[in-house]
Amino acid sequence: MLPGRDNFMVILSSPSGVGKTTLVKKIQQKYQSFKISVSMTTRAPRSNEVNGVDYQFTSKKEFENLINQKKFYEYAKIFENYYGTLKKTVDDTIKENDILFDIDWQGTKQLSKFSNLKLIKIFLIPQDKNELKKRLIKRDQNTEEEVSKRYDSFDEDVKHWKDYDYILINKNLDICFKQIENIISTYKKNDIFNDLHIAQ
Ligand code: 5GP
Repeated sequence: MLPGRDNFMVILSSPSGVGKTTLVKKIQQKYQSFKISVSMTTRAPRSNEVNGVDYQFTSKKEFENLINQKKFYEYAKIFENYYGTLKKTVDDTIKENDILFDIDWQGTKQLSKFSNLKLIKIFLIPQDKNELKKRLIKRDQNTEEEVSKRYDSFDEDVKHWKDYDYILINKNLDICFKQIENIISTYKKNDIFNDLHIAQ
């Protein structure tokens, strides 16, 4: 994986229902340089999702074939489905663009092993765990069983906050977005990664 000289990668992770997908889309809308990494998954598409835009939807058999062929930079089994980042998608994008990843803590751990990457790792948490359940139900994208599984994974997810560079509380979407913008512009302005690379 060879990033263009100044291109970097922002990972946003969070327990389910914290508003991460909305924030990822907001960043991409505002910053032309960012492209969202479209993951591959074996989960069924939701009614509002488009193949190739939200995810590349595929079968379990095909996903496992790709694992065997070592086609992923990272992948994880989450809520009984596979999710993964294809090497080709990232390699093609990073030459010209910054990349935004909406991936979980397992994927973040795997990407962190590539020491040449300019990774900014951000973990979002809700202000209130009860609010999370309400949001999961309100967004109406999951069955009752899926809502429970996602809510129950909260405690495991937040255990991994230490693997991230920044922890943000998404109490207010606009404020949270501003905080992410501040992080990105600090890195862009100060060329922090190039300094870090010299230090290594
Ligand atoms: P959802 O089913 O709600 O779209 O996503 C469930 C979880 O999978 C989210 O936490 C999301 O960040 C994570 N996820 C999506 N794509 C990937 C991926 O390519 N790799 C990993 N490790 N996690 C992913």
